[in-house]
Amino acid sequence: MKAAVYYSLDNIIIEDKPTPKIGVEEILVEMKACGVCGSDLMEWYLKTRAPLVLGHEPAGIAAKVGSRVEDFEVGDRVFAHHHVACLTCHYCRHGAYTLCKQFAKTHLEPGGFAEYFKVPAPNLQKDTLKLPLELSFEEATLIEPIGCCIRALNKCNIQAADSAVVVGAGPSGIIHTMLLRIFGASQVIVTDFVDYRLKAAKRLGADLTINPETESLIDAVKKATDGRGADLVMVTAPNVNAYLAGIELCRKGGTLCVFAPAQPEDYMRLSPNKIFFSEIKLLPSYSTSHVETRIALKLLQTKRIDAKKLITHKFPLNKTAEALQTAARNKECLKVVVTNEQ
Ligand SMILES: [Zn+2]
Ligand SMILES: [Zn+2]
Repeated sequence: MKAAVYYSLDNIIIEDKPTPKIGVEEILVEMKACGVCGSDLMEWYLKTRAPLVLGHEPAGIAAKVGSRVEDFEVGDRVFAHHHVACLTCHYCRHGAYTLCKQFAKTHLEPGGFAEYFKVPAPNLQKDTLKLPLELSFEEATLIEPIGCCIRALNKCNIQAADSAVVVGAGPSGIIHTMLLRIFGASQVIVTDFVDYRLKAAKRLGADLTINPETESLIDAVKKATDGRGADLVMVTAPNVNAYLAGIELCRKGGTLCVFAPAQPEDYMRLSPNKIFFSEIKLLPSYSTSHVETRIALKLLQTKRIDAKKLITHKFPLNKTAEALQTAARNKECLKVVVTNEQ
């Protein structure tokens, strides 16, 4: 089979690989569509593990099913989650599924940017979802990224009538914008340096968009929130400047959600004095679990979230390199999807 092997963002090669062999409790899926994630573009995150096959937002058709698998059959249309928790460890018993040791160890083999991938038994049992017919494979690639955003927003405990600022209007920022309305926020403000993305945010639910290059971000947010700052600041841009801005935009007692990592060598100065007296809560949220993927699927199925509005670019598997480079460098795009249609 063909697979896109990642050596670096500028060196992604289509190679022939053996089609994974499945065990009796596993299935083989023919990939039909797989989303490109922001984390697929973070060279610092990937370079120590390269070469590898990326793609953790896949959907496809069950092509082979192990003899002891009961709930799936050949031909089923599925989404498979690449990471699943054990559900029994200390972290899992606290609901911190994404911190479970097994969570990081589990993965699809070799990854979603391949003609076929294997779903190991734990992934199959805990977080492989059958897709309703009305949901296309491309739409289903949004299950994982929407799940990540739902997990974060659930932690943030947003209240009806809350105001929120989303920092960064890439795919995650736009998904947060759409979800914030569903979660009941009464005011969603989105900031980004790219007007194309701000326009998309406006179309998809933002009440107010701010480009800090053309106006003062802090003044605009203060003005929109009776001088207080926002109840919630969701930082989706993976850099320190976004966090420094985010803290200034957060009201006293508000929440700053750490939704995207900066580079490991980057640090920011935090004043315990300011954090103490302002009671700003820093709340990180990493990845998603079997709990949120099911909610994400429901929101897509019922068109509460229209995935089609998020997907702006599609590339065939043999152009995976172009897909990732487009997502990394073309500012005029939202979600990029790799497809495997013959
Ligand atoms: Zn992702
Ligand atoms: Zn666990």
